[in-house]
Amino acid sequence: MSLSNCDEQPGLLEVEEALAQIDAAISKVHGHERVNLQSALDRVLAEDISAPFDVPPHRNSAMDGYALRASDLPEEGEIKLRIIGKSFAGAPFPEEVNEGECVRIMTGAVVPKGTDTVVMQEHVAADGDSATIPSASRPGANIRHPGEDMKAGATVLKAGHLLTAADIGLIASLGIGEVTVIRRPRVAIFSTGDELKGIGQVLSEGDIYDSNRYTLKALLSRYSVEILDLGVISDDHSKIRSVLSQAADIADLVITSGGVSVGEADFVKQTLDELGQVGFWRIAMKPGKPLAFGNLGKAFFLGLPGNPVSVMATFILFARPALMKLQGRAITPPLSVMAKLDCDIRKRPGRRDYQRGILIKDTSGELKVSTTGTQGSHVLSSMSKANCFIVIPRESGDVASGTEVEAIPFSGLL
Ligand code: AMP
Ligand code: MG
Repeated sequence: MSLSNCDEQPGLLEVEEALAQIDAAISKVHGHERVNLQSALDRVLAEDISAPFDVPPHRNSAMDGYALRASDLPEEGEIKLRIIGKSFAGAPFPEEVNEGECVRIMTGAVVPKGTDTVVMQEHVAADGDSATIPSASRPGANIRHPGEDMKAGATVLKAGHLLTAADIGLIASLGIGEVTVIRRPRVAIFSTGDELKGIGQVLSEGDIYDSNRYTLKALLSRYSVEILDLGVISDDHSKIRSVLSQAADIADLVITSGGVSVGEADFVKQTLDELGQVGFWRIAMKPGKPLAFGNLGKAFFLGLPGNPVSVMATFILFARPALMKLQGRAITPPLSVMAKLDCDIRKRPGRRDYQRGILIKDTSGELKVSTTGTQGSHVLSSMSKANCFIVIPRESGDVASGTEVEAIPFSGLL
């Protein structure tokens, strides 16, 4: 292989090695708080939750129908039972049901004493106070038993668990209205660059609008973190130094964009060298090669590259797991699927590519993926069009249409 068609450079770190270092370095933030269940979505439990009673708490019907004694069910043909009352959800039938009797019952209603079977109403012919029950009914059918969902005393959610909508409902079903959660990690962010203008400002020649801070805030808003927005800092050594020290004092994690490369205006790298224990990684991935990670005092630092697509790719790959660790969660890699490539991909061996892709399920149910076109790390529209990353292994060269490739869907990540 000639050097010109190879991206191989000495000292590039594998994505997995970088992840392992993040995993080893970061631990859960200290402190927790009691929150109302209504505001607990996406928070991380700091306590185990156990069931104070059986759920469901009482034997109840899974159907609208008739509650009866299994011993009354006919071997063959049908039987007429006398309807002696009704059991509604929240209004149980108070008496015992004897041989030859049944009770009209609704879904969720307590199954009356004496009965042990519910026959669905569609199978029953009712006439006045008489119900005709067919032989096909199964003894014990359509009954939900106490504790079938959760048993009294059982731990149902463990500390460290991220609360989903299902969990919120589950905790409510236990009658618990407040939970102890880990405090929100504080994440300070700022952009660096003399060329960056704020929205509303006029662009002079060479200027661009600062989009990274908007992207980062949007990405961070998917996590339960407190965002401390420190704005845009110019490429000025002393300014960067003072903002970095300030950020390290107030945040658990400082995330910056730009200035971590080897250019003459890349003061972030230089300043970090002076202030903290920060390593500069050149990661074997594209986009997003340069990345800084380490600590500034007691805060962790993640210096993302400046290019907007690189910001998003490195956020998903490295800031996401860093946030998971700060929240006391285990790092789970994003889910991926295998899909058939629907275009050719040009690639030089040497770095793992995260190309922007569009993943579809075609009419025959097959997963197919194609790139969004131009793949420059400055082309943010490629991220906007995409719904997945197409991952092409480090040593791979060009990939032909029809090859099975790995795709990481963006759902849940952006
Ligand atoms: P740097 O890593 O600072 O050399 O920046 C790499 C590229 O990303 C340059 O083209 C920058 O203009 C661009 N860039 C840096 N920061 C931002 C930002 N906050 N928003 C948009 N583009 C940026
Ligand atoms: Mg810059």
